Amino acid sequence: MVKRNADNKTLAQSWHPETVQVRGGTKRSEFGETSEAIFLNSGFCYDNAEIAESRFNGEAPGYVYSRYLNPTLDMLEQRLTLMEEGAEACCVMGSGMAAVFASLMSHLRAGDHIIAHRVLFGSCHYILAEICPRFGMEVSFIDGTQPNAWEEAMRPNTKAVFIETPANPTLDVLDIAHIAGICNAHQVMLIVDNILAGNGAQAPLLLGADVVVYSTTKHMDGQGRTLGGAILGSESFIKETVLPFHRHTGPALSPFNAWVVLKSLETYSLRMARHQSNALAVANALEAHPDVAHVHYPLLPSHPHYDVARKQMNGGGNMIAFSVQGGKKAAFSLMNNLQLIDISNNLGDSKSLITHPATTTHATLTTEAQEAIGIGAGMMRLSVGLEHVDDLIADLINALR
Ligand SMILES: *Cc1c(COP(=O)(O)O)cnc(C)c1O
Repeated sequence: MVKRNADNKTLAQSWHPETVQVRGGTKRSEFGETSEAIFLNSGFCYDNAEIAESRFNGEAPGYVYSRYLNPTLDMLEQRLTLMEEGAEACCVMGSGMAAVFASLMSHLRAGDHIIAHRVLFGSCHYILAEICPRFGMEVSFIDGTQPNAWEEAMRPNTKAVFIETPANPTLDVLDIAHIAGICNAHQVMLIVDNILAGNGAQAPLLLGADVVVYSTTKHMDGQGRTLGGAILGSESFIKETVLPFHRHTGPALSPFNAWVVLKSLETYSLRMARHQSNALAVANALEAHPDVAHVHYPLLPSHPHYDVARKQMNGGGNMIAFSVQGGKKAAFSLMNNLQLIDISNNLGDSKSLITHPATTTHATLTTEAQEAIGIGAGMMRLSVGLEHVDDLIADLINALR
C-alpha cells in the first residue's frame, strides 16, 4: 500500500518550513511515485455525464481543465499556501506580472483610487501609471517612507494600496504594520509584492497585509529557468475574487513550470540562507571600499530604514543597491570589468547578476524622476547568488580598481 497521507493538510500545518518545502502539498498518484509528477495535460475525462455536471457546478471535487487547475498546479498552490504565514489560499499564474495585474484587476473598477509607493518594479509602475488610468482608476504615487504620507493620501474612493518592500531598485523599506493599520482603518486592501524580501524573510500577512504576490521566477525557481507567479491571501479573496478572474482571462501557469518550481522549493531554505549571508558579506565589503559612494542593504545599520527592516524582516534578502562616484561612465566601467558576476536584469538566481537600473529596468522614467526616487546615474543593483562569497568580493574589488 502506498503511503497516501502526503497531502494531509492538518499534518503539514505542524511541519517546520524546511519540511513543508520538501513535502507540503504533495499528491501521489496510484503509482506511488516518490517525486511529484508532472501532469502535462490540458483536459480531463469523466466516467459519466453526471460527474461532469457535478464538477462544473462545484458539488464534486476534481479537475475540469488546466486553465483552471491541474494536479501539478494544485500541489504548488498548496505548498505555497503552507509556506506563507497567514495565507489561507493561493492562485498560481504564468508570471509575477500576471499575479500583480490580477491582484488589482480582479476586484478594482472604474472610479476606484489606488495608492502606491513611488519606487516600484518597472512593470508594476507601468500597470499603475499607464493601464489603470485607462480603465478609469486614479493612482497616487507617494513617498511611502514618510509615515504620515499614507493617511494624507487616503480618499473616500481609495480601494487598494500596492507596495513593494524592499522596493526595486533602491531597496527603500516600508513599514508594513504601520501601512496596514491605516489601510485597515479605511477598509482599503493592502497588497504587498514580497519578491525582493522573499518568503520566509518577511511575512506581510502576519503584519496586517491582505494579499501577497510573488514572482516564482525569482528565488523560488532560483536557477533562472521558468516564469511564474502567485497570489496568496484569504480563502474568500482567492476563491471568490481571484479565481473567477484567473479562470476566465487565462494567465495560467504551465504545469511544467509549476513542477520545476516544486522541485526548486525543496532547497529553498538552504538557498535563501546562503543568498542572505553572501549578500550581507558583500554589502559590508562594498561599504568598506573607499570608491563606493553608498550601499543600500536592508540589514546594514547605515540603511536609512534600518530600524523598520530590523522590526519586520528576519533576513535581509539578496539584493544590494550601490553607487560609485563618476556616474554612468564609472558604473558601466565597473560592470564591464567584472569577470564572474554577469550583467543581467534578472534577480534571485544562483548566479550573481548586476544591472544598471537607470538605463535598463527604469529607463522609461525621466532623469529627474529617476533622481527624485534615488536612482542615480552611478547606481547599480546587485542580485547576490550562491557562488563562494570570497570570489564575489574579489570580483567586485578587482573591478572597482
Ligand atoms: C520580477 C518582479 C516582478 C515580475 O515578475 P515576473 O515573473 O518577471 O513577471 C514583479 N515585482 C518585482 C519586485 C519583481 O522583482
